[in-house]
Amino acid sequence: MPPAQARAFDLQGHRGARWLFPENTLEGFAATAALGVPTLELDVGITADDVVVVCHDPALNPDVVRDAAGNWLPQRGPRLRELTLAELRRYDVGRLRPGSGYAATFPEQAPRDGARIPTLAQVLQACPSTRFNIELKTFPLQPEITIDGGQLAEAVAAVADACHAADRIIVQSFDWRGPRRLKRTRPDIAVAWLTRKETIAAARAWWACDAAASVPQAVAAEGGPTWGPVFTDLTEAHLAEAHRLGLRVVPWTVNHPQDMRRLIDWGIDGLITDRPDLALQILRSKGLMAS
Ligand code: MG
Repeated sequence: MPPAQARAFDLQGHRGARWLFPENTLEGFAATAALGVPTLELDVGITADDVVVVCHDPALNPDVVRDAAGNWLPQRGPRLRELTLAELRRYDVGRLRPGSGYAATFPEQAPRDGARIPTLAQVLQACPSTRFNIELKTFPLQPEITIDGGQLAEAVAAVADACHAADRIIVQSFDWRGPRRLKRTRPDIAVAWLTRKETIAAARAWWACDAAASVPQAVAAEGGPTWGPVFTDLTEAHLAEAHRLGLRVVPWTVNHPQDMRRLIDWGIDGLITDRPDLALQILRSKGLMAS
């Protein structure tokens, strides 16, 4: 295996570029790709009529979603799995709810009124030269919310095949059942293993992993090649261990320039950020991406 740093730095825009544009929308993905961001991260769920759609939340989020009459949802709405695609497409996700904490977190996000929750197929077709890191939003401890992680992974692979895009996707999840399924059935599709403290504790309960294994060792035991830790948990020692195991390390969600610089200097292999515009500037200044 070549040294991890021998491959290009993988800058990934989180949900497109959530700092700048409405998350997980066609409008946001196109605008982010136009900045020169090579990979766009997104989240997927599945509708009642089995269409893979791009949405972070398993149920409609009142901080993001307006109904067909333009009214903000008064509370959390129906689950994606309870709506057909036609029903889902009535909702507007182009603007954060004014006055919400979420809107205050992303004050520079430029609205795109009328934006709809897209299908995965629409996104793959709209940005034909962009890579996508597709996060499976499945919930092993709450199976009633949506389908099984392995099933959603297979559904994503089928969409990618129909769009001739299997060679430009990564499939990642905190629910390791999805990437684990693809490792077996679709070794041609790249996968990544997301972690945070809760995931590791739960994963050990589901799969009886070696309790003494470190997180990088657990990811390597799954076959890698990419580990996606929350950046606040990542230490330089973890990174070195992961590299010794042949893993690439792509932490999330790194939004502050000082954190980007520190992690880049440690030798991370990519990062996921709501601010890929800032990350591009930093990477170019360090000669890690072409201008
Ligand atoms: Mg995600």
